[in-house]
Amino acid sequence: MTYRAGRHFLQIPGPSPVPDRISRAIDAAVIDHRGPDFAHLGRSVLSGMQRIFKTQSPVVIYPSSGTGAWEAALSNVISSGDRVVFYETGQFATLWKQMADKLGVVTQFIEGDWRTGVDANRIESVLREDTDRTIKAVCCVHHETSCGITSNIAAVRQAIDAVGHPALLMVDTISGLASVDYRHDEWGVDVTISGSQKGLMMPPGLGFNALSDRALEVAKHGGAPRSYWDWHEMLASNATGYFPYTPATTLLYGLKEAIAMLEEEGLDQVFARHQRLADACRAAVATWGLETVCQNPSEHSNVLTGIMMPEGVDADQVRKIILEKFDMSLGTGLGKLKGKAFRIGHLGDFNELTLMGTLCGVEMGMGLAGVPHQAGGVEAAMQALKNTAH
Ligand SMILES: *Cc1c(COP(=O)(O)O)cnc(C)c1O
Repeated sequence: MTYRAGRHFLQIPGPSPVPDRISRAIDAAVIDHRGPDFAHLGRSVLSGMQRIFKTQSPVVIYPSSGTGAWEAALSNVISSGDRVVFYETGQFATLWKQMADKLGVVTQFIEGDWRTGVDANRIESVLREDTDRTIKAVCCVHHETSCGITSNIAAVRQAIDAVGHPALLMVDTISGLASVDYRHDEWGVDVTISGSQKGLMMPPGLGFNALSDRALEVAKHGGAPRSYWDWHEMLASNATGYFPYTPATTLLYGLKEAIAMLEEEGLDQVFARHQRLADACRAAVATWGLETVCQNPSEHSNVLTGIMMPEGVDADQVRKIILEKFDMSLGTGLGKLKGKAFRIGHLGDFNELTLMGTLCGVEMGMGLAGVPHQAGGVEAAMQALKNTAH
């Protein structure tokens, strides 16, 4: 590899670029994870993550990717043979459901079109038909990263409650947390799953489960055979700021810094910044005359924008040209969207000028790749940012 001047634009929707403050925090000596200093760090990140998830209940931190945190969530409350409903919002919902299949769970997949989010009414009908109350959980992806769609989780809780069904509500917000508003307690979520490398601006390597009293109660008597993922052992150690096995100490230094940065800016300001930049990005896409993958304006993602390519254009070819010519990585189309769409990540440590650099790269790259589009997208985004500058 030869040196390329300037910063690489890592505009994939996770891992997102790691800010220098976090890199520096991680670059510190590893300490004894059973020693006196560690407990301070442990308590600080555990309570900090409760504030990020907006919960009074415990949050569990694993040295794992988001996929590990999915398995942790399932294995603590679901055992093989249990019935669980998944909603097909896109590729990540599909992968989570496939994981459950491999674990022997009896899954029901509510089919979706990958262009709209969770329809809570359909969940309500499925639960209404379950007169024996055998469904153990409803699993939804809050922010579907493969499509750029945000679903209404409070509506799913209302649907479950409207039926009076005892199913647990389990939600993946791996790519939504700390970029778009998320309220674990207020929305009545039993288990929320997240990861470090998206809105938290961290490198990959940490997985999270936020819990509810009900989830803990179910886990006490149920779930699958498990050891490494077991919540109760973890929480017993966490009570004093420690972990039952060696934690990812240096990543926890980074997490402490990430929480500090999010709280210095203020979570509400973080969400407003994502909204404003995403609006400007969508203004560019509309001016180009292209379609976003998400078809429902109330479900537009503020984390990424998925763009449908016109018929006959290979989206991965466009991405390849942009990477080669302008040193920018964009998200590939996943699953059913392979070759049909690409995704612009605009999350985490991201501001007006990073958005503009990103959109310039996309507009130039589409020109070079011969993608039919109207001119002026970059200009439209600049206007949107100027009009909302404060
Ligand atoms: C990134 C992501 C995952 C997978 O997380 P890994 O850290 O790659 O295991 C799962 N779900 C969603 C919604 C994601 O964005």
